[in-house]
Amino acid sequence: MTMTIRTQLAAVKKRIADYAEKYGRKADSVHLLAVSKGQPIEKIEAAFQAGQPDFGENYLQEALSKIDRLAHKAITWHFIGPVQSNKTRKIAEHFAWVHSVDNKKIATRLNDQRPSHLPPLNICIEVNVSNESSKSGVRAEEVLPLARYCMGLPNIKLRGLMTIPAPQKDFAAQRQSFHALFLLWQRLREQGCELDTLSMGMSDDFEAAIAEGSTLVRIGTAIFGSRA
Ligand SMILES: *Cc1c(COP(=O)(O)O)cnc(C)c1O
Repeated sequence: MTMTIRTQLAAVKKRIADYAEKYGRKADSVHLLAVSKGQPIEKIEAAFQAGQPDFGENYLQEALSKIDRLAHKAITWHFIGPVQSNKTRKIAEHFAWVHSVDNKKIATRLNDQRPSHLPPLNICIEVNVSNESSKSGVRAEEVLPLARYCMGLPNIKLRGLMTIPAPQKDFAAQRQSFHALFLLWQRLREQGCELDTLSMGMSDDFEAAIAEGSTLVRIGTAIFGSRA
């Protein structure tokens, strides 16, 4: 199992570097977040052992148990799932990043509940670029006001934007969704927001995301295999 994780992690890193080169980008401009939701702790240990420091989790209870058991390792934990109000305190206490902030109330609670001995919590605003009514994430026109609001909160640090587009097989269609987020990110930067993170791309679409400027891809199954 350890060898499989090591091999698959290396293969994903190689693909990231190859895509970066293919689209005229520096290999080190695209970071890898290993998404470990639904995976056993042994696989996280194997990936960490193979040099992977950043892990993403979606479900708070599952994540807290892993964080507790791996407390002796220098892992950076990212929360990437939907954030409910009653979960913000534990998230603010135990994570370094939250990728899925999509309203003021959640941003305020994360800010207020971030322990003072920890550095500001890194956050991304989740944007719904596919405009499906059922999905989480703010609409494009809501991004700038929410970004300005977040920038006024001292215990959170707005790092960028994140999206989970509707799954599409067609490469050009994948690129189109990611391009929409890239344009929003650029516009915020032109408006004076100091953003360095564009969190987009998963196992099935990270080539398109890298082609469109992703700085952080969130990869689960391509590293760890299918989830329980
Ligand atoms: C599960 C998940 C991923 C990883 O998906 P894979 O298809 O397994 O790579 C990435 N981002 C988010 C927000 C997820 O929930």
